[in-house]
Amino acid sequence: MNISINRTKNPKVKPDESKLVFGQNFTDHMFIMNYEEGKGWFDPRVVPYGPLELDPSAMVLHYGQETFEGLKAYRTKDGTIQLFRVEENAKRLNISDEQVCIPYIEEEMIIEAIKTVVDVDRDWVPRAKGTSLYIRPFVIATEPSLGVKPSSKYMFIIILSPVGSYYKEGIQPTKIYVEDKYVRAVVGGLGTAKTGGNYAASLRAQLEAAQKGYSQVLWLDGKERKYVEEVGTSNAMFVVDGKVYTAPLAGSILAGITRDSAITLFKEMGVEVVEEKFTIEQVFQWHQEGRLTEAFATGTAAVISPIGQLGWKGNDIIINNFEIGEYSQKIYDLITGIQDGTIEDKHNWITKL
Ligand SMILES: *Cc1c(COP(=O)(O)O)cnc(C)c1O
Repeated sequence: MNISINRTKNPKVKPDESKLVFGQNFTDHMFIMNYEEGKGWFDPRVVPYGPLELDPSAMVLHYGQETFEGLKAYRTKDGTIQLFRVEENAKRLNISDEQVCIPYIEEEMIIEAIKTVVDVDRDWVPRAKGTSLYIRPFVIATEPSLGVKPSSKYMFIIILSPVGSYYKEGIQPTKIYVEDKYVRAVVGGLGTAKTGGNYAASLRAQLEAAQKGYSQVLWLDGKERKYVEEVGTSNAMFVVDGKVYTAPLAGSILAGITRDSAITLFKEMGVEVVEEKFTIEQVFQWHQEGRLTEAFATGTAAVISPIGQLGWKGNDIIINNFEIGEYSQKIYDLITGIQDGTIEDKHNWITKL
């Protein structure tokens, strides 16, 4: 792929690394590539970051035909810039795209586009411990038409945002509300795709949980409101009798890459991982029996986020004394160590720029 590069003549002043707020600052450049039916993907380019020109009838604005990804670039001690499991993000973008009829993009092309735009803005990868450059690839339907059908035109765009350490004062366990009124996705729906509509569908629940004093919701299955699915935009894991329980990839949850990394590392540590359906009632019972020792969420943004409290139908349980547990800490240290280059990458998860 021949990516043209048009560098900005007005580089921005970089924000203070100690004051970065997630997703608020964007770098000097972005990647764009277009698609047209009959022509395929064309004109890959890095251009100065700025507003897009879109027809008001662009299909994405009306019917939400859109997908996205999220990953990070890290700066190691010796200054190398590296990506974590970028191949998985490229694969997952196509899995999402297929579900909403967006045309396939070759995985090597996605990876090369990410590497190229990150390289152009490599000075934007922050240096302080725990910081990184968040990478947001996304695809939008741009055909100007109000007919409900798959678009014949698309844009694949990558924007970059320096992000701070998720945990400025050490890892803080969160209060999670078990959602029994709203649902995120059902089997047969779009729960396995990273597509905008799923997140629009989650906002009302998120807002109401926040009004009750919780920071996120734990989603239950959409049919019976019984089985544990995921937490906000991360996957959920529960440690019971020394085993790790997590919902299976059975058609309504997102296949998190952090989830997969954690499962791989737990198994290597000799910890049994159970990927089978379990109910919220079971979780509360495990707690009552003193067998639930930890719960945590996994995702790219925070890596591991311990769950300190779960509220369901007016009952609240406190998990592990509202402290981070041994399993959570261990897996957090391992994954972040591989990401920032302080722990050897035995799995070929790292791509250096
Ligand atoms: C992105 C996402 C996750 C986590 O995926 P990672 O690849 O680990 O970042 C989990 N659930 C949902 C709904 C998501 O959107």
